[in-house]
Amino acid sequence: MSDLRFKSVEVASARKPVEVKIPSERVEKYYGEMVFNRQKMFEYLPKDTYTALVDAIDNKKPLSRKLADSVAEGMKRWAIDMGARHYTHWFHPLTDGTAEKHDAFIDHDGKGGVVEEFTGKLLVQQEPDASSFPNGGIRNTFEARGYSAWDISSPAFIADGTLCIPTIFISYTGESLDYKTPLLKALNAVDKAATRVARMFDPEVEHVNSFLGWEQEYFLVDEALYAARPDLVMTGRTLMGHESAKNQQLEDHYFGAIPSRVEAFMLDLEIEAHKLGIPAKTRHNEVAPNQFELAPIYEETNLANDHNLLLMSLMSEVARRHNFRVLLHEKPFAGINGSGKHNNWSLGTDRGVLLFAPGKTPEQNLQFIAFVANVMSAVHKHNGLMKATIISATNQHRLGANEAPPAIISMFLGTQLSRILDEIETIDEIKLEGKEKMSLEINQIPELSIDNTDRNRTSPFAFTGNRFEYRAVGSSANCAAAMIALNAAVADQLNQFADAVEASMAEGKSRDEAMFAEIRKLIRESRAIHFDGNGYSDEWKEEAARRGLDVETSAPLMYDAYQRPETVEMFKRTGVFTQKELEARNEVKWEMYTKKIQIESRVLGDLAINHVLPAATRYQSVLLDNVYKIKQLFNGEKADKIARQDMASIEQMADHMATIRGAVDQMIEARKKANRLEGEREKAIAYHDNVFPLMEDIRYHIDKLELMVDNEIWPLPKYRELLFIR
Ligand code: ADP
Ligand code: MG
Repeated sequence: MSDLRFKSVEVASARKPVEVKIPSERVEKYYGEMVFNRQKMFEYLPKDTYTALVDAIDNKKPLSRKLADSVAEGMKRWAIDMGARHYTHWFHPLTDGTAEKHDAFIDHDGKGGVVEEFTGKLLVQQEPDASSFPNGGIRNTFEARGYSAWDISSPAFIADGTLCIPTIFISYTGESLDYKTPLLKALNAVDKAATRVARMFDPEVEHVNSFLGWEQEYFLVDEALYAARPDLVMTGRTLMGHESAKNQQLEDHYFGAIPSRVEAFMLDLEIEAHKLGIPAKTRHNEVAPNQFELAPIYEETNLANDHNLLLMSLMSEVARRHNFRVLLHEKPFAGINGSGKHNNWSLGTDRGVLLFAPGKTPEQNLQFIAFVANVMSAVHKHNGLMKATIISATNQHRLGANEAPPAIISMFLGTQLSRILDEIETIDEIKLEGKEKMSLEINQIPELSIDNTDRNRTSPFAFTGNRFEYRAVGSSANCAAAMIALNAAVADQLNQFADAVEASMAEGKSRDEAMFAEIRKLIRESRAIHFDGNGYSDEWKEEAARRGLDVETSAPLMYDAYQRPETVEMFKRTGVFTQKELEARNEVKWEMYTKKIQIESRVLGDLAINHVLPAATRYQSVLLDNVYKIKQLFNGEKADKIARQDMASIEQMADHMATIRGAVDQMIEARKKANRLEGEREKAIAYHDNVFPLMEDIRYHIDKLELMVDNEIWPLPKYRELLFIR
């Protein structure tokens, strides 16, 4: 019965690194080879088409149909030269991941044959029959039409011999059904608002870009072992498994030598990523055994997010060539660290100034402080929403588990920046009573040099020198969810700031005076979000509650933040979401939550009944047999003494087995009850409150049995086997 486990371990340990096909040229030759980038556009498009397209991309202009036809023709020629036969609109539905439906380039030629065709119409817009994508009730199944429309700001690329065209996905009635549409809207909002403020310093600024540098963490597991774990296959995490005697306690994995099989995989992945124009740069081991990280050079947020999604699917594909499976789940293994996806985020002008980087002159530093204060305020006002953007059935295992940020959003600023903000408050007080000019005040801001090594790993949202790092994002998530809310909230805040400053200036105050007063107000009002201490401590939880921060710990209830009046108003003002969209999207979130826990609960129930209990019974029976024989050979007290240990084990096992059986029955009942509830929110709450805790219970007793049952009989690969790649 346990053959599968042992065979899998044997196969896994015998594997050698797979040889990687290393390109003969240097990276600058093949970088972006699979992307229809400007160089390819220049080569394949008529000159005036090229100029018009670049102008449309750079200045966010719409594209005429005639131009689209011309672009489509060039794009098709390039794709065919590259050996592609199909094209697809590539979009990000509300499930995590991407969707595509491939069409061949063929059309009738009118003579019974075919020609390879691709028109502007097909490039610009399509109607995938997408009734089966989550939409939260916006589209009834009988009105299954949704449109996908080309996002010209993200270049088309070829993956697996298919030309992929990044698109947005919206309903017939115009509501967004994806992540990209609201992301583009939020980026547009932050561009406008931040430009307004940046122009108060430099009138030549035309645009402000949002930048994202994600750090993707993941686990690798040998394919044979993975296949012998139904829980990994079906849910992406182990639903049971006792901690391995050695795991991460020696801290020997982080930055340790990368095993050669993994190194081959990473090299292969990097080459493929570079061909797709993903600027993969950093790779290293993470804290837990078998855990790794990949980080690219940061890019404009929309492009960076496309690249992250593309990388996630690329990883899975390349891993299989190396007989690995990638686990992107936030918590594949209990007892060791889970995986996140730090989102390094910043804003920068088209004049090359990073707005969260301290400058050299008092003028630049006033701008820096103004932007930092606005981010503080936005994150403070919307801290509950920020948390709602990253919570999920899978990420809930990390938050608050002393390995990832707590389930409270706070902001780390570091000693230097904190001191400067404090000073601004106090100097200002003195100043307001004095007669000197405001501008003198600003001269008192020293030349800032912010040390970005001042890091606090327990903070969910940290200032790191020239950017903020949002660390609570889950490894399997679409970064867009967090980036939409953050950019929109900051845009909204910057608009209010600009309004206030302009109003004071209209009353005769100088720019510096007006700005200083506003900055001071923001710093004061958002004090509660600033916390540089230990985010894992229990005192912080109490302190955060006292400060009025959102301390909700139940995932389904965290989603409520999306529908609070202040959130709805903020998204309405920035044009990112309508109330209807927010409601529909929450329905999807609750539904996804329920489904994920439901699947896990079913898999766990099956494994408990079909794998674990039979194995335990078999071993119990071996012990019973032994006891029986002892009693035959020895008598009285002596027999009791010899058999005592086995008798105790038999009883202990019987207890665990009975508890498991009882809890599985209870869990099935709890599911049935939850399923009968009306409303996705109520269902999700019931799954969270009543089903999920039983899963933890069952697991506890299974893990105890794993320690007792004969290793030869245990049917599932154990943590010590799964977690150490040889
Ligand atoms: P660490 O793991 O120490 O936080 P890494 O070097 O692994 O740092 O990752 C930092 C990430 O932040 C990289 O993706 C990098 O490109 C990105 N990054 C650096 N500067 C900025 C910035 N101004 N805006 C956005 N991302 C940035
Ligand atoms: Mg980082």
